Amino acid sequence: MKGKIIKGIAGFYYVHVADDGHTMGTVYECKAKGVFRKDHRKPLVGDDVEMDVLDEAQKKGNIRELLPRHSELIRPAVANVDQALVIFAITKPQPNFNLLDRFLVMMQQQDIPCIICFNKQDIDEEGKKEDYRAIYEQAGFRTITVSAARQEGIDTIQELLRGKTTTVAGPSGVGKSSLVNCLQSGTVMETGSISEKIERGKHTTRHSELISIAQDTYILDTPGFSSLGLFRLEKEQLAEFYPEFAPFEKYCRFGGCSHISEPVCGIKAAVAEGEIPQIRYENYCLLYDELKNQRKY
Ligand code: GDP
Repeated sequence: MKGKIIKGIAGFYYVHVADDGHTMGTVYECKAKGVFRKDHRKPLVGDDVEMDVLDEAQKKGNIRELLPRHSELIRPAVANVDQALVIFAITKPQPNFNLLDRFLVMMQQQDIPCIICFNKQDIDEEGKKEDYRAIYEQAGFRTITVSAARQEGIDTIQELLRGKTTTVAGPSGVGKSSLVNCLQSGTVMETGSISEKIERGKHTTRHSELISIAQDTYILDTPGFSSLGLFRLEKEQLAEFYPEFAPFEKYCRFGGCSHISEPVCGIKAAVAEGEIPQIRYENYCLLYDELKNQRKY
């Protein structure tokens, strides 16, 4: 049988097997005997596998083979992620754009396309949502605004996620759990003894876990957002991750301009003219500085 590893704990892998669409499928508790010897790699959450059922009543099985991996994220460690959905609130709490940019750089480094979702549009009293969207649309990202509380925009998210495996991230308080609940509602996973064992709870959120929300559609509810160190990156590479800078680089006097201290700089001029959002440039400078200092160690 074919399935997907949705969770791994202490040598056990929980494999989700979809059925013909009548239920959300079944989860088997599996060992992976012989897999490492054969495939020379450790199973990861997100891996597609061939498994054998050892005990249907107890929902136990064994993973026989890992199927080819098309991608591998390092942080969080998960295979076959197609994209990331990053959630921020328009207000309460105000978005931390430094954190957002940091996350975007990290995902772009790993070639993972990002969708930016601004939640709590129901309380956007200052009308910020279009400004926020414009900043990131200019940078080439798909953005959406939603309200988990009013269930607005949930169908748009569902469309964007359909048929894919998406890692969902966001700092606490932005409504990530509320949105994940909206996406999960209506999905009923067969609750055998095993799936009850792996029921999500506060104590288990440190593990990466895929949740099946529709046919061939999984989300990875990523715990926390705190340890967002940048990967090893040369400071000179940072501008590549700010695609909206590109059209203005031809106005820089110096090749390899850092856009920080050089006298004639197309990027700084564009920021002054309002053609590049100030906030993106400020965060570029902060991240640049951080990378510069990192190299000293
Ligand atoms: P998490 O920490 O990101 O998982 O956020 P929660 O889902 O726990 O939500 C944090 C708080 O924001 C809770 O008090 C929610 O009721 C509230 N909240 C979540 N979504 C919305 C929304 O769309 N609009 C409003 N006004 N409040 C929301």
